[in-house]
Amino acid sequence: MTNYRDNLNILRRAFPQPVSDQEHDAWFVFSVLRALDRVDKMKSQRPILGEPKEVNIAAAIESRVPESMSTVELVSRDLVDHLEGMFIWGHPRAQVNVINPPCIPGILGTLLPAIYNPNLCSEEASRGVALAEAEVVSMTAALMGYDPATAGGVFTFGGTGTLLYAIRIGIEKALPGTMQTGMSGDLPVVVCSDQAHYAAKTAASWLGLGLNNVVTIATAPNNEIRTCLLETELRRLLKEGRRIACIIATMGTTDAFGLDSLEQIHQIRDDLVREFSLDYVPQLHADAVIGWAWSVFRDYDFSQNSLEFPDRTLRALAGANRRMRHLHLADSIGVDYHKTGFAPYISSAVFVKDARDLQLLSRTQATTPYLFQSGEYNPGRFTLETSRSGSGPMAALGALQLLGKTGLRTLLGHLVTMAETLRNRLSAQPSISVMNPDNFGPVTLFRVYPDSVDTFEFPKLEQTNADYAPQLHAYNEYNRRVFRIIHAEAMRGDGVVLSMTDRFRETDYGQPVVAIKSYIMSPFSDQQYVQAVIDSIERARKQVE
Ligand SMILES: *Cc1c(COP(=O)(O)O)cnc(C)c1O
Repeated sequence: MTNYRDNLNILRRAFPQPVSDQEHDAWFVFSVLRALDRVDKMKSQRPILGEPKEVNIAAAIESRVPESMSTVELVSRDLVDHLEGMFIWGHPRAQVNVINPPCIPGILGTLLPAIYNPNLCSEEASRGVALAEAEVVSMTAALMGYDPATAGGVFTFGGTGTLLYAIRIGIEKALPGTMQTGMSGDLPVVVCSDQAHYAAKTAASWLGLGLNNVVTIATAPNNEIRTCLLETELRRLLKEGRRIACIIATMGTTDAFGLDSLEQIHQIRDDLVREFSLDYVPQLHADAVIGWAWSVFRDYDFSQNSLEFPDRTLRALAGANRRMRHLHLADSIGVDYHKTGFAPYISSAVFVKDARDLQLLSRTQATTPYLFQSGEYNPGRFTLETSRSGSGPMAALGALQLLGKTGLRTLLGHLVTMAETLRNRLSAQPSISVMNPDNFGPVTLFRVYPDSVDTFEFPKLEQTNADYAPQLHAYNEYNRRVFRIIHAEAMRGDGVVLSMTDRFRETDYGQPVVAIKSYIMSPFSDQQYVQAVIDSIERARKQVE
């Protein structure tokens, strides 16, 4: 039996020492090294850490808090074991989704706050780390074309959080005072495209608007919102006397990097405000959680092309920039540094063109008597969260400082070059049809067909003609089977890790179109791994036939 004093002495060794103790400090660093070393031993040539492992939830739910204490060493092993079977997102044969591999400064930005635990709730509790938030907000605001002197921004719990902010601000503009009184009567609506992320619906339902008050507008084949339909629908809503809480422009859709025309949407919004003499301006939010990073091309000289991107890449980057350079027209913007900024999760911020918009969400001092007694930087007055980790802004700062505009241009340019190469190679295969051939981003969607299918004609027919619905369904199933084989191969550590989307879009007659997806996010991607995708598909096709 040990008494609590003995336990305490043991436990104290399991914390970083508050006062310099060189021996113990070194041991702490060593513990981190040992853990990393153990993870490194799980690396091979394969895109997976260690051996592929079934995720056994049934066993996991048997877990209970142990009775006795453990040691740093043993726990470290257990934690590292949990990484077994993880995909290595930075591996060139991992092309799963828009999940970026974090760079080392991004990782340090997460690690350091984990040790000193700043709380961004207030300046008091975060000190210099609050500056990281202010720095990143200004850097990114300027990058996107906002004036950092009048814009504002705050980190939150993900892209979903950025939408929650935007819609709540929009509600307050459409129905002033409802932060206090709540909503009653006719609820305002949120309008977005049918390719907008479902997080918009999540936010709308959690905010009490309900899914029925999210109006979705059809998209064109390139996945951008059909602005003429948007205008018609907005006019209809306004005629009915409905209030509009938020119009969401998706700047980079999740599945296909579709880019809405923010410029036109902005024009439509302003015209309708005048036409209907609205006493408020409907919030225009840019969900740019994926696309924001392309802002680094705002001031890239495409004719000089000093980074020497290939022609097709240059065209794709210029095409994206054509839409992205209007980001500053939005009243608010959502940014995920953890999607395309090479920072680890969670690193997301919402930006407002006019910092005063955030004050619409502000609590009064009376509700928070124990906080904000000092300092001038107190985002906790209006943030949804109370405690807020410093790791989001520190990770973003680390990544932005490392990369600069040149580094981001280099990485994004490379990813787009690889995706262009893949699209080229896939298009050359008679059995494959690329579904987004004119896409500007790093994502490629394609469908695979049996040898008997004429892939020059058929994809168009199944998209437009309801007579082909039975074949559409059969080939949806065919693609699922091909994908399952590719995936099984990938899980064994060979081949390429891709993903599948059940409904990358609908046919003209309302049926879901399945597609296989390659999302290239690794700085280590290269030509030979593009060929690996083709090889893997061919092997899978043979097996299905
Ligand atoms: C991923 C994504 C979201 C949700 O962001 P999280 O950071 O995953 O919460 C919202 N919108 C778009 C367009 C996305 O791709």
